[in-house]
Amino acid sequence: MSSQKVAIITGAGRGIGAATAQLFASKGYAVCINYKSNLKSANKLAETIIAQGGKCITVQADVSCEDDVTRMFSTVDKELGALSILVNNAGILKKQSRLEDMTADRINSILVNNVTSYFLCCREAVKRMSTRHGGFGGVIVNVSSGASRSGSPNEYIDYAASKGAIDTLTKGLSLEVAAEGIRVNCVRPGLIHTDMHADGGEPERIERLKNIIPLKRGGQPVEVAEAIYWLASEKSSFSTGNYLDLAGGL
Ligand code: NAP
Repeated sequence: MSSQKVAIITGAGRGIGAATAQLFASKGYAVCINYKSNLKSANKLAETIIAQGGKCITVQADVSCEDDVTRMFSTVDKELGALSILVNNAGILKKQSRLEDMTADRINSILVNNVTSYFLCCREAVKRMSTRHGGFGGVIVNVSSGASRSGSPNEYIDYAASKGAIDTLTKGLSLEVAAEGIRVNCVRPGLIHTDMHADGGEPERIERLKNIIPLKRGGQPVEVAEAIYWLASEKSSFSTGNYLDLAGGL
């Protein structure tokens, strides 16, 4: 097995995850592109990375499902080698709604996809990275959201609360594994140009809100990817349990 560093990026078929996978591959990481349903875009990204001389595999896994998560990590062990970086990025959004119209099914779906998934992937990463388990350390970067601070009233408090849970997961886990060679940080993007806003029922949401952003524009996925890359690299070696806000000043 080569000494190339290995990174798993969840939900990497499109959006911020895809930009992150591409950036890590371009920096010499062997990358696991995880996707849930969009095989076509995951394969297209893999072809691009390989054409540029990078190394990657695609792994279908619903990261909210425990068996899928353990299978994905075992596949990476076998096909890429020892894991050094986990980027927990996969996430979902439901149609904009006030809280009084939310069903238990909707709320549970948000929590299992946005929170349980991060916990399960962190668990598998810690088992492999922690010096307590014979590992060589590593870095976890969680993709939270500015929504954890704003609360997203009238749009999706359920989503915002799921991201609040990710901030707390980041803090707690960073302290739990700090002496075991693992750093855990998170990024909190603001309004980023991806297809996620269409899932929330308003594809042009950034156009409507851009004037309240001090930088007067939405962010690009690669601008988030660059911050994730910095947090994963040795350049941020004294940072753990931190939140990096990428919201154009909002
Ligand atoms: P996106 O374009 O909708 O991409 C999300 C990806 O997550 C999709 O590729 C989807 O995979 C994957 N996914 C969802 N549930 C999954 C699961 N259970 N298992 C595996 N993959 C799953 O969204 P994005 O904007 O890039 O968002 C990426 C992260 O940034 C999310 O955590 C989001 O909450 C956060 N964020 C985004 C913004 C923004 O303005 N865009 C702002 C703040 C935070 P498939 O397509 O294969 O189903």
